[in-house]
Amino acid sequence: MDSRIILIIGGGVAGMEAAKQLRLLGHRPVIVEKSDHLGGHVAAWHKLFPDMMSASSLIEKLSESLDGVTVYLKTHVSNMNRLKDGYNVTLSNGEGLQCAAVLIASGFRLFDASKKEEYGYGVYDHVITNADLEYWFNTGEDERVPDNPGTVAFVHCVGSRDLKAGNPQCSKVCCMTATKQAMEMKERFPGADVWCFYMDLRLFGKKYEDFYINAQRDYGVHFVRGRVSEVSEDIDGRVVLKAEDTLAGRQVKLKTDLLVLMSGMLCNEDTSSLASMVHADVDSDGFMRSRDNIYRINESNKAGIFFAGACTGTKTVPETVAEARAAALDIHNYLNGNA
Ligand SMILES: Cc1cc2nc3c(=O)[nH]c(=O)nc-3n(C[C@H](O)[C@H](O)[C@H](O)COP(=O)(O)OP(=O)(O)OC[C@H]3O[C@@H](n4cnc5c(N)ncnc54)[C@H](O)[C@@H]3O)c2cc1C
Ligand code: SF4
Repeated sequence: MDSRIILIIGGGVAGMEAAKQLRLLGHRPVIVEKSDHLGGHVAAWHKLFPDMMSASSLIEKLSESLDGVTVYLKTHVSNMNRLKDGYNVTLSNGEGLQCAAVLIASGFRLFDASKKEEYGYGVYDHVITNADLEYWFNTGEDERVPDNPGTVAFVHCVGSRDLKAGNPQCSKVCCMTATKQAMEMKERFPGADVWCFYMDLRLFGKKYEDFYINAQRDYGVHFVRGRVSEVSEDIDGRVVLKAEDTLAGRQVKLKTDLLVLMSGMLCNEDTSSLASMVHADVDSDGFMRSRDNIYRINESNKAGIFFAGACTGTKTVPETVAEARAAALDIHNYLNGNA
């Protein structure tokens, strides 16, 4: 077996950045990606907070750095057996390979907003999700987005921090994503009134508070603290929402031309099958379980199996990139007996 071969499952930002770093450290990374493209979810986003960097330029930059990396698209791992010093892997295309270590970088999936029936996703004409809006920013294609909306509203915490939806966790990125998207809507429709309805604003990162202040001061986005309690559609097809403004202590009723639901990040649907294939553990929230959440977040409980990015929990892009670099170094040290 070539002890430099490292299998990377998932070709999102985490898998791509780790592959680049492993290549630079002298290894032979092999990315196995189940979709038909690299870049994962970020390939579908438009601009990235907090700098509003173009998402496609990041993916292009990462793609250009993959010289010497083997990439399989539309492929997944069908089977994996532990060897004395590595893993014997069978791919869905029938090919086999032996690798010295495995990096799981399989990311996340979005909460299915139609499960929160009260918001009318898939029922009312002008209700979309955060992911739909990113797609519209990139392509201009979505009949649900009106030509010149006078009012746009964002609802935070859809399928996150919600026991009834089966996910009590905070998805961490969606307060910032809503703020980012609200500003982008104001850029495209300066005359529109843009509202964000939130439970708490969780803006924890560098420059995030400035980003939020900018959204209010320079873009005029309105932030209302309060859960949306009811959504309906009026005779003209406008979306009518009711909420309680808990800071002002009054009921709010708003007619809006577009309602955007901030769907939360959940564990990827493949997590438990991948975990059982490599005998790793999953956490109570379904994400991959790290050895600990402070010092060994990139390590699993199994020798030679590592993690990077959103497969262990919700992550921003900078966190994902940092973890991918750390995972590459952890794998390098493991293979050199320095773990
Ligand atoms: C609407 C929205 C907007 C966002 N905007 C921002 C932003 O502006 N700034 C920011 O910092 N963060 C943002 N984020 C967070 C960002 O999307 C994540 O940080 C990032 O996608 C994590 O990358 P990843 O590679 O870990 O996972 P993913 O992007 O989920 O990539 C995982 C890859 O693994 C593949 N895969 C999964 N299972 C398998 C398998 N079994 N076999 C093979 N391949 C597999 C998938 O197809 C995918 O290509 C946003 C998130 C959302 C939901
Ligand atoms: S980041 Fe904000 S919108 Fe997302 S779940 Fe947490 S509090 Fe809700």
